[in-house]
Amino acid sequence: MQALVDIEIVPCLSDNYAYLVKSGENCAVVDPSEAPPVKAALARRGWKLTHILNTHHHLDHTGGNLALKQETGALVVGPGKDAARIPGLDVGVDEKTGWQFDGRKVDVLEVPAHTRGAITFVIDGNAFTGDTLFLMGCGRLFEGDPQMMWTSLSKLMTLPEETRIYCGHEYTESNGRFALTLEPNNQAVKARMAQVKAVRAQGRATVPSTMGLEKQTNPFLRPDSPEIRKNLGMEKAATVAVFGEIRARKDKF
Ligand SMILES: [Zn+2]
Ligand SMILES: [Zn+2]
Repeated sequence: MQALVDIEIVPCLSDNYAYLVKSGENCAVVDPSEAPPVKAALARRGWKLTHILNTHHHLDHTGGNLALKQETGALVVGPGKDAARIPGLDVGVDEKTGWQFDGRKVDVLEVPAHTRGAITFVIDGNAFTGDTLFLMGCGRLFEGDPQMMWTSLSKLMTLPEETRIYCGHEYTESNGRFALTLEPNNQAVKARMAQVKAVRAQGRATVPSTMGLEKQTNPFLRPDSPEIRKNLGMEKAATVAVFGEIRARKDKF
C-alpha cells in the first residue's frame, strides 16, 4: 500500500489557500494564486514541483500557473470544459477521464455553478473543492443557478464522511457567523465556532474540515434542517428553494 500523500497549506494573497500535495517524487500545487509563496513553500520542504492543478479558472486560483510552469516545467491540469480559460493548460480532465497522480487514481468531480467548468479533485481521501464548497459555506453562483449548485454540492455530499475538505479561501469564521443566524440552536455549529475563533486568534488555518463535520454545520448542506426552514418561514418549500434563499441571504450578509 502506498504511503499517504503529504499536504502543505500555502496561504496566498489575502485569504486564498494553495496546497502542495506530495507523493513519491511528485509534487502538485492546487490553485496557485501567485507564484512566490508557492516557491517559498517548495524551497522550505525541499520539494520539486511536477504538476499544477486548477479547480476553476478564476485568477485567484490560476494566477501563478504561468510563472510556476515556466520555472519548473510542471504540467498544468484543469477542467477540460474550461480549457480556454485556464492559463497554460496541458491536460484537460473531467469526470470521465479522471486523473492519475504518482500511480494513484484521482477522482475528478464536475461541480458547476460557481463557474461552469468547476471541478473538485479527490486525492487519497482529500477533496480540493476550490470555491464550490467552503468550510461552513459555499461559493457564489457566478455561472450557475441554485439548482446547479445544489446538484454539485449533493454530489460532494456522496463522498465518505471522513473525506478531508481543503477549500480555496479562509472564510470559515465569517461563514460560521452566518450559519448561526440560521441555526442559533445548532450545538455542532456553536462548538465549531468556538474552535474556529481560537484557531483564527492564533493566526492558524481552519482547513481541513471533513465532509461529516460539514454536513452537521454547513447551512448550505442543510436546507432540510427544520430549524433553518422555520427561521426562513419555508417549512414546506422545496429543498432547492430553501437552498436558493440561504445563498441569497449570504450574498447580503
Ligand atoms: Zn472562484
Ligand atoms: Zn477564489
